[in-house]
Amino acid sequence: RKINEKYDKVFVTGCADPEVQKEAPRANAAFVVLARNKELDGVIESIKSVERHFNRWFHYPYVFLNDGDFNSTFKETILKYVSSPVEFGKIGPDHWGYPDWVDENVAKEGIRKQGDAAIMYGGMESYHKMCRFYSGFFYKHELLQKYDWYWRVEPEIKYFCDMTYDPFIHMERNNKTYGFTIAVKELKETVPNIFRYASAYKRVNNLTSQGLWEMFVEPKEGYNQDGSPKPGFTPPDKLPKDDPKYSDARMKPLPEDILRGEPGSGTLPEIDPDAMEGETYNMCHFWSNFEIARLDWFRSKEYEDFFQMMDRSGGFWMERWGDAPIHSLAAGALLSTSQIHYFRDFGYRHTTIQHCPANAPARQLERQPYLEMTTLDERARREEDEYWAKWDPEKENGVGCRCR
Ligand code: GDP
Ligand code: MN
Repeated sequence: RKINEKYDKVFVTGCADPEVQKEAPRANAAFVVLARNKELDGVIESIKSVERHFNRWFHYPYVFLNDGDFNSTFKETILKYVSSPVEFGKIGPDHWGYPDWVDENVAKEGIRKQGDAAIMYGGMESYHKMCRFYSGFFYKHELLQKYDWYWRVEPEIKYFCDMTYDPFIHMERNNKTYGFTIAVKELKETVPNIFRYASAYKRVNNLTSQGLWEMFVEPKEGYNQDGSPKPGFTPPDKLPKDDPKYSDARMKPLPEDILRGEPGSGTLPEIDPDAMEGETYNMCHFWSNFEIARLDWFRSKEYEDFFQMMDRSGGFWMERWGDAPIHSLAAGALLSTSQIHYFRDFGYRHTTIQHCPANAPARQLERQPYLEMTTLDERARREEDEYWAKWDPEKENGVGCRCR
């Protein structure tokens, strides 16, 4: 089975009429925005974009979350820009910060070392807390209990095409669980051990891939991304990953207590570079600052078990595991390809990375869309602009409407 044959289709071909769409029943869904008071300007920028390109028709509510208290300036300003109900919530200590089984001194020392090693955000304690919150807690917040779906919004994001249909309803109708618009490669040094644990979770729970896991596996020499042998390559009788010795992803054994679901020591095992066999992480992940997903998946026992095992390894502190690779590897272990939706028709930018639907048709043909990456270096930016200038929304099917 080739990944190419499993591409999902855009939900709506061409532009829908939002004036008609908005008359249809809504899903039980909300935007979720984690932010701090000082990020107000960036949040407003995001809200303006969301409202302009989607929510002025659909009026989905917003839930703002913060580990501190939102001040009145923040709350009052937000209310000026939204067209729907808003709730502001505080995240309690149970969902933010060190769990009681972690030795804080060990964790803080681990974070300090990551700072010294110049690992991106590695030395920032608050960033570690944020990643852990988005990995295992946001969906447990009391303000989200009434919702079935969420759409994540961050400060300083921009949508550049009108989203003329209801993505929640279309995901529901098509049995989708998780939607993304950009997939990128993670910085290796932020997640040295993450794949060993994710892979061990799969093994310990006897999970077999439903087609998505392969997306995250570095292809071995002679093999394609989907695991099929390249033309002219004769596979050996036995793959290293079939050897039980290597079954937990290429390296030294992981601590048995963690695999049993018990709290670990708060430290992570060293990786033995000589034991490189079996599966290797290709660093690919869905960029989770945009994410539309079913909350009941996050709330499932399987996801909770996954989070618990990952958490107990100490990787949220001793390494700087992001919520993006956590969500992605959980999806890889638990979901089928057909449950994932690529919102190729959503034009989206955050910081230096963007997805432009105008490029999607070309990329769809040859590339694996999951591995698509648009980094805005100068050349890429120029190419994007050229595509953009020539792009005629009337001629393209389902790749974004009234983009500006
Ligand atoms: P980046 O996109 O990976 O560079 O990370 P960001 O700095 O944008 O953080 C990701 C999200 O978490 C954004 O929505 C931030 O507003 C939010 N965030 C990060 N750190 C904190 C924090 O300490 N407190 C709160 N309340 N939000 C945070
Ligand atoms: Mn951000």
